[in-house]
Order: sequence, then structure tokens, then C-alpha cells
Amino acid sequence: MAERKTILVTGGSGFLGSHLCEVLLERGHDVICADNFFTGSKENIRHLLTHDHFELLRHDIVEPLYVECDEIYNLACPASPVHYQENPIKTIKTSTVGMVNMLGLAKRVGARILQASTSEVYGDPEVHPQPETYRGNVNVLSPRACYDEGKRVAEALCMDYHRQNGVDIRIARIFNTYGPRMDLNDGRVVSNFIVQALRGDPLTIYGQGTQTRSFCYVDDMIEGLIRLMEHPTFFGPVNVGNPEEIPVRILAEQILRLTRSRSRLTRKPLPADDPRQRCPDIRLAKTKLRWEPRVPLERGLKETIAWFKTQLREERAQPARRTKR
Ligand code: NAD
Ligand code: UDP
Repeated sequence: MAERKTILVTGGSGFLGSHLCEVLLERGHDVICADNFFTGSKENIRHLLTHDHFELLRHDIVEPLYVECDEIYNLACPASPVHYQENPIKTIKTSTVGMVNMLGLAKRVGARILQASTSEVYGDPEVHPQPETYRGNVNVLSPRACYDEGKRVAEALCMDYHRQNGVDIRIARIFNTYGPRMDLNDGRVVSNFIVQALRGDPLTIYGQGTQTRSFCYVDDMIEGLIRLMEHPTFFGPVNVGNPEEIPVRILAEQILRLTRSRSRLTRKPLPADDPRQRCPDIRLAKTKLRWEPRVPLERGLKETIAWFKTQLREERAQPARRTKR
């Protein structure tokens, strides 16, 4: 094994964070998970709580934190449009005040810090697929801006702490990621469609369903993030995502087929400023990180469907689990 490190994962009880904590423990590191449980859940990390090298802190990154660590993965921030628009001021504070706190911690203890940025920094892109050099098309006045602009400020802060204070940063621009442990009520498209299909409810297509997204399976994403963190010099920003692009309506039809569901499709209004297309240009990740996704959409969806089936079965057996936070 490589050297044992102490690694802080903020947002560690969320969807991506819980997978990341698990893999870092498997690789022999000490992991400190800090989370305020806004969208995360103890259920996601329950199996890690008894691990000798795992520690859980209930902490909101908008408040300062002091812990000794070698690396920080800053994942704390709601990722679903439904959740990040629930309390937009808090979302902005998390990506700005929270980012300052985490960069300050990195500076103080000499830790390397990876920021979980997002494809949303490209807004509704006019360049397709999106390379890291594209500067984006974000509406600053949009209800999505609390997230998009928050994450853009977070990237700017990383660069300033790097230039001004020599902080060792890493910036990953994460594209839509899916897999087991997405919350049943998360509101994102993959979890919504699978849960609706399994329950026999109509699948809610927002707008025409012609808008595209590119979905990356969670295991591929975690590997990409760790490769970026472990790279000796390259700090990004770098796109991490799967370039297999698909319109939302086709995704719905694929999920209906894979779940053998007889649910129908229903239309709902398209949310404001919903990006029309999104697909990562991953040439930089391929060259610098020797990383590209391995899990095709169909295989990843099957894994995710199997996981949601178990969740729904458990929910039926124990209705109290519905409010799992
Ligand atoms: P998630 O909502 O499942 O996880 C976010 C976690 O952060 C939750 O556990 C939540 O409780 C915690 N959190 C939120 N605000 C906090 C705060 N102020 N202090 C402490 N903890 C806080 O979302 P996810 O999909 O796991 O996303 C993780 C990160 O990756 C986020 O920063 C998100 O913006 C980024 N990202 C995710 C995707 C994706 O498709 N999953 C895409 C782009 C970027
Ligand atoms: N979407 C949809 N039905 C849903 C949820 C989402 O048609 O039940 C659409 C949404 O309008 C967007 C895409 O699916 O075009 C992806 O939405 P998601 O919330 O997963 O993430 P985004 O990429 O928009 O942040």
C-alpha cells in the first residue's frame, strides 16, 4: 500500500462522498467524514461507522473547522437542483464561505484540497462538447445561479489561494453522475425515473425531453477524483464525466425497458434555464490522468435499478425508513 494518509471528506455522507469514503478506507487511509446531513444520510455510511479508521463529524462547512489532515475532498454542497434551490442562500454560502473555510484549513495544515466543481460552470453551453477552456454561458439571475455561480466563485477562490498562498489545489468539473445510494427523493433524473418506473408511476419528462445529459457511473467518477488528487502536479480544472450523451426522453424509455415497467411518460414544464445539452470533452482527463469511464450506461443503470429495488422493498417493510436523515 502507498503511505497511509489522513483524509477529510466534506459531504462524506452524501451520494458521492459515501462511495469515496469507502474506497479511501479500502485503500488503507484514515478518513474523517464531515457532514451537516442536509441531503446526506447516516444510512449511507452506517457500514463504515465501526471501521477503526473512520470518524464522523456532524459539521457544517459554513463554520470554520480545524482538523489535522493531509488531503481534503470538498464535496459538501447539495447537488440536485431541487435541493440546492430549496435554500439558495445557504447553497451560495456553502460554496463560498464554506470554500474559504476549507481553503483556510488546507493552508493552515498544509493539506492538498480537491474541489468538487461541476459541469454547471458551463451553464447552458454554446460549445459542444464542453472543453475546460470554454468559459460558459451562465445566467447570474437564474434560480440555478446559487449553485452555478457559487461553484464558479469556489473555483476562483481555489485559484487565488493557490496563486497567493501556494495552496495545493485540485479542481474536478464533475458531470452528471448516478449509481447506488442516490436518495429516493433526490429529485435528479436517474433516481426519479427509476423510482417512478419501479413504483408504476408516470415518468416525469420536463419539457420535450430532447435536452441531453451524459451520465457517469459512480465507480468511474470516484476513480477519476482519486487520480486527480493523487497526481503529483496537474491540478486542473479537468472534466470528469462520461461522454456517452443521451436525450432525457430516450433515457426514460431505456429505464422503462430495463425495469420492465408499464409506467407511461408524462410531461412537466421545463425548469428555468435547464441546459439544453451537456457532454464532457474528456481529452484532458485521458491524457493527464489516464482516466476514462469504463461502465457503459446500460450496465450502470442495471446496478442502480437493483439497488433501488432493494431500497423500495425495505421501505415497504419499514415505512419509517422513508425519513432516513
Ligand atoms: P449529495 O447531495 O448526495 O451530497 C452532498 C453532501 O454534502 C450531503 O451529504 C450533504 O448533507 C452535505 N452538505 C451539504 N451542505 C453542507 C454543508 N454546508 N456542510 C456540510 N455538509 C454539507 O450530492 P452528491 O451527488 O454526492 O454531490 C457531491 C458533490 O459533487 C457536490 O459538491 C456536488 O456539487 C458535486 N457534483 C455532483 C454531481 C453529481 O451528478 N452527483 C455533478 C456535479 C457536481
Ligand atoms: N429531468 C426530467 N425529469 C425529472 C428530473 C429531471 O426530465 O424527473 C430533466 C431535467 O429537466 C434536466 C435533466 O433531466 O434536463 C437532468 O436533470 P437533473 O436534475 O438530474 O440534473 P441537471 O443536469 O439538470 O443538474
